Amino acid sequence: MSGGTRALWYTIQIVTQPLKVFFDVDHTILLSTSDGGWHLRPGLREVFQSVKDMGHAVYLWTASGKLHAQRVTETYGLSDLVTDCFDKDGNNWLLPDLVVDDDWFLVEKYSGVLVSQYREVNLQDRELYLLLDYLKDGRLPQVGA
Ligand SMILES: [Mg+2]
Repeated sequence: MSGGTRALWYTIQIVTQPLKVFFDVDHTILLSTSDGGWHLRPGLREVFQSVKDMGHAVYLWTASGKLHAQRVTETYGLSDLVTDCFDKDGNNWLLPDLVVDDDWFLVEKYSGVLVSQYREVNLQDRELYLLLDYLKDGRLPQVGA
């Protein structure tokens, strides 16, 4: 498949079916500092809202447990945008169509968007918007680009 054909294929897939988009929590959408502080990655609410407006569904999942994801959802008032939260323990009744994660292994497994680890507060960070490029035109972000 040529690059153009592949892009078209992704576009058709993405336009024709609602996707279950699973976001990792730690170092993907959230930075937890050693003093116990939480910092949400910039653009999160806007990206979640855009995903929802496109007809897709947002889920959170994390190896830190479902409760952690639920706390993040409640703390930042995201309940209107997050459909559900899961533990990454492999026992979920629902699996992702694509993921946003700082772990390449899961991105390879499910497809989706690999983001850099969010390890320090950076208000200029725009990594989460890579997902919108992916959903809008099937453009696969280049790892390390
Ligand atoms: Mg992570």
